[in-house]
Amino acid sequence: MRVLVGGGTGFVGGALTQLLRSRGHEVTHVSRRPGPDRISWDEVARSGLPLCDAVVNLAGENVLNPFRRWDDAFRRVVVASRVETTKTLAKAIAEAKRPPRAWVLVTGVGYYRPSPTAEYTEESPGGDFDFFSRLVSTWEAAAKIPGDSTRQAVVRSGVVLGKGGGAVAQMLWPFRLALGGPMGSGFQPFPWIHIRDVAGIVCHALEMEGVCGVLNGVSPASPGTSNAEFAWELGSALGRPAVLPLPGWMVRGIFGAERAVMLLEGQRVVPKRTLESGYCFVYPNLSSALRDVVS
Ligand code: NDP
Repeated sequence: MRVLVGGGTGFVGGALTQLLRSRGHEVTHVSRRPGPDRISWDEVARSGLPLCDAVVNLAGENVLNPFRRWDDAFRRVVVASRVETTKTLAKAIAEAKRPPRAWVLVTGVGYYRPSPTAEYTEESPGGDFDFFSRLVSTWEAAAKIPGDSTRQAVVRSGVVLGKGGGAVAQMLWPFRLALGGPMGSGFQPFPWIHIRDVAGIVCHALEMEGVCGVLNGVSPASPGTSNAEFAWELGSALGRPAVLPLPGWMVRGIFGAERAVMLLEGQRVVPKRTLESGYCFVYPNLSSALRDVVS
């Protein structure tokens, strides 16, 4: 398959590109920066979709960049980098003379309302209660294309655990120095997935003819994982104690109250349709996932 991947140069995109190429697929990235096997967003908007069999969008400004103040200007960048890129690809797909077979968008579990007890499957309601949930709704709506010539799927991802990027990269140094620990109360659910599995689910959605609609991108063990348990497991994978809690006020001070919700609250998310679709997780449990990440 020839696969076009928006934002494929990033953290998840690196793992997805490697997995797709290892399975014999050809990958082209849509990027803001020139480079080999890349085309620009302008080219897609101006000339339409290049010949391809499948399209994925992973583009998005890093929401949890601690160096960017959470103000209106940054909020606009966070939204536009997701919604406008998705609209560009959806329009190009809808107008393509030879439409691709599959179109997969990766969004987030921020769609579901944080709760210490409620469990959410792909059928659960959400998407209408705060900035991030509304962002996911708008983002997913931007991906919709009329007709059924292209199969459409959305992967709602939890926190992606992988080497050299994402949340773990930011936490690794304090944890290595035995300065790590739970955030806030530590009781909040911690929805997580290993990077090999988020790439695996996208690849599965591209390759399997029957797969469409929303797939929760979290590990099957994720609904039972709290932030404190995650901290303990990360400490244990590094052979360090992880007992120093990061107080909620400090997290709010660094990220701003609205963004801090992503860290101080969480959702118990179940990958029900993902499992029913036949996807087999490579890293279903947290200790093996974290051992791989820190190895
Ligand atoms: P990255 O932060 O690695 O960014 C992915 C790519 O997005 C970058 O390589 C970049 O491509 C492009 N990008 C960044 N900022 C902008 C911008 N302002 N405008 C246009 N393009 C931009 O993301 P991840 O790989 O971690 O995540 C991929 C997707 O999955 C994102 O949409 C993210 O929201 C979502 N997700 C990620 C989670 C995680 O834990 N990592 C959790 C849940 C969802 P280039 O520089 O080539 O243009």
